Amino acid sequence: MQDLFDYAQKSGIELKNVGRCQFCYSNVSKGVFECEGNLNHLTQILDFNNPIYYETRFLSVDAMALQHCELHGPWNNHIHLTRLYLIFEKNIKWDYAKTPLLSNIINAYKKDKTEFLTPPPFGERGQLTTLDLLNASTPEECINVVKSWATEVYHSFSEHQTLISSLANSFLNRYG
Ligand SMILES: [Zn+2]
Repeated sequence: MQDLFDYAQKSGIELKNVGRCQFCYSNVSKGVFECEGNLNHLTQILDFNNPIYYETRFLSVDAMALQHCELHGPWNNHIHLTRLYLIFEKNIKWDYAKTPLLSNIINAYKKDKTEFLTPPPFGERGQLTTLDLLNASTPEECINVVKSWATEVYHSFSEHQTLISSLANSFLNRYG
C-alpha cells in the first residue's frame, strides 16, 4: 500500500488521516488509512494462501481498489472491473496465473487509447465499505461480506458494462 500512497502523492492527491474516508465515505475516524487497516481483519480470519479463499482475496482486492481508485493508475480500473465481470457474470474460477493474462488484454486494448473509464463520484461506489468487514467473525461471514461488498462496487460502475464485457470477451476468446 505504501506504493499506492506514493502514487497519490505524485498525483497531487492529499490523503486525509482524520475523519471519514475521502474516497468511499466510510464512517471511519482515520480516513483511508483506517480503510486500509480494516482489510487486515480478513487476513486474521482467512488464510489467503489457501486456494479455497483465493476468490475472496481477489474480490477484496478489486473492491478495495475500485472504491479507492485514485490510489492507482487509471488502467488498473479496467483490470479490476473486468476481473469482477469474469468472476460474477462468467463464473470464471480466478487464480493467480490469470491476472497477467488479463493484463495482456488490457495492455493491447489501451495501446491506441487515451481515455480512461470515469469512476463513479466519491462515496457512490457501493454502500458497503471496509467498515462492514469488521462485522465478520467467521470464514463464512468473511466470504459473504466480501462478496456483497464487491458486488455493490461492481454495480456502481455499471455504466461501463459494455466496455467491460467486450474486454472480458477478448479475454475469453484468447484464453478461455
Ligand atoms: Zn475508504
